[in-house]
Amino acid sequence: MAVPKFAKVAQCEKIQGGVRLINFVLCGPDPLGFAGGQYIIVNTGLELPGGKIVKRAYSILSADSDQLRFAIAVKQVGSGPGSNFMHQLSVGQELPFSGPWGQFRPDSNTVQGPALIVATDTGITAALGLAQGAAFAQAHPGSQLIWLVSTPDYFLPPEWAASRLKVRQTALKVKTVLPAGDPARAQTLLRDWAEVFPIKLSGSVYLAGDGDLLYPLSSAFTARGCLEKDIKLECFFNNPFKKVAS
Ligand SMILES: Cc1cc2nc3c(=O)[nH]c(=O)nc-3n(C[C@H](O)[C@H](O)[C@H](O)COP(=O)(O)OP(=O)(O)OC[C@H]3O[C@@H](n4cnc5c(N)ncnc54)[C@H](O)[C@@H]3O)c2cc1C
Repeated sequence: MAVPKFAKVAQCEKIQGGVRLINFVLCGPDPLGFAGGQYIIVNTGLELPGGKIVKRAYSILSADSDQLRFAIAVKQVGSGPGSNFMHQLSVGQELPFSGPWGQFRPDSNTVQGPALIVATDTGITAALGLAQGAAFAQAHPGSQLIWLVSTPDYFLPPEWAASRLKVRQTALKVKTVLPAGDPARAQTLLRDWAEVFPIKLSGSVYLAGDGDLLYPLSSAFTARGCLEKDIKLECFFNNPFKKVAS
């Protein structure tokens, strides 16, 4: 079992209705040791009927150049226990978590050169963390990030996201797609392929967000010549491989 770590809420900002940006400072002197693209698992301490404790993953969207502070953004998902808990945190409160976790980052087998990141919905947090990361900047200069989102006010404002990428020179393109849960979501995106994605695909591809879009996209990329080993996927929701709801 992972040893719990603690971070204190330093600042909370309401970005827009149902979207909250939370800045944390680590309790204790040890650096977090995360790489851009990784996530933490928050232990809310809340108990579900049946006794299971609510633990939820949140990707770090701040740059890995600061290992003592980090930021996450949380979208309220209906009356979901995890996201509503995160929206009620107050400044000074200490939060137990584990991590960093995840392989959504360059590794020793990564193909160097410009990469394509595709984020859907809240998956933009993992994409922002990744694109601002030191390892990504070294491996993938001149990359492109495509954000597939249903409306400009869905989560973080696109211009805010773009401003985070300036330092690392990754270009952001925002494409409006059908909302999560729409049965035609993937099909419509695949139909509009030429309008959204680069004609020539080579090198590394990073996909984060809605599994209902990411898995069909991953298949479409491999059908167009991308190697499976060069595609990294971080599924936030609609994960076909998730066995039990938590
Ligand atoms: C690796 C990883 C990183 C994540 N990072 C973030 C992040 O940075 N910011 C963030 O807001 N969330 C993020 N999530 C989602 C988060 O972990 C929770 O699933 C979310 O906060 C809802 O939890 P809940 O307890 O409120 O609702 P639940 O009752 O657990 O959720 C209800 C259902 O909604 C689904 N769901 C979760 N998010 C969405 C969404 N955006 N649109 C539609 N359905 C959704 C859940 O999978 C679940 O099936 C991440 C998930 C993973 C696996």
